[in-house]
Amino acid sequence: MTGTPLHPISAQVIEIIRRLRLEFPKAGIALEFANPWELTVAVILSAQCTDKMVNRVTATLFSKYPALTDYAAADPAEFEKDIRPTGFFRNKTKHILAAAHKVLVDYNGEVPHTMHELLTLPGVARKTANVVLGNAYPSAYAADPDAGIAVDTHVHRLANRLGLASTKAPIKTETALMAVVPREDWFQLTYLLIEHGRATCTAKKPRCGQCNLAEICPSAGVAGRL
Ligand code: SF4
Repeated sequence: MTGTPLHPISAQVIEIIRRLRLEFPKAGIALEFANPWELTVAVILSAQCTDKMVNRVTATLFSKYPALTDYAAADPAEFEKDIRPTGFFRNKTKHILAAAHKVLVDYNGEVPHTMHELLTLPGVARKTANVVLGNAYPSAYAADPDAGIAVDTHVHRLANRLGLASTKAPIKTETALMAVVPREDWFQLTYLLIEHGRATCTAKKPRCGQCNLAEICPSAGVAGRL
């Protein structure tokens, strides 16, 4: 019996995911956290900052502010100093302390379990909300009709190089990917692309000669301009 042929882009996506899973069987979030609130803080801090630096800062921060109430009561000037090495520390402080207050007052001290509610937190846009939901509440993420794919700079770059999207803005990349990637792969795709973006398909010098996606990548040998 012959089945319906896959749309070429779907077949390509499935093959990309299969190959990346073989290469990065342990792909997953690199941020360290012990609960959904700490994850939210770490993801907000990770904007324009490496995961390594965030982990260094949060190692001290999470000991100094062990409870959500500690963030809600924190002195902003002192908190700015605590997170300064992550960059954009004034805005990040504003967002984290306001988010702590909102979680306490509006959500009874528990980081919300839906995309819609997560997006009401200051400093939380779709990328952060997808990361928090997918990592802290996997069942809720799988069932949430508003959930999507976390798109950071690596995911945006690779989606375009691999021909899965043709977009300038990361927010549009998320929609493009959601249209071609099977729903059950949305969560892991982010981490597979991040690993591949760090290891091989780097922004400035993609190593197409050593890439296990080269024969199925439309940018092989010509990438480096995105
Ligand atoms: S072939 Fe080159 S452009 Fe394509 S994914 Fe691999 S490293 Fe990136």
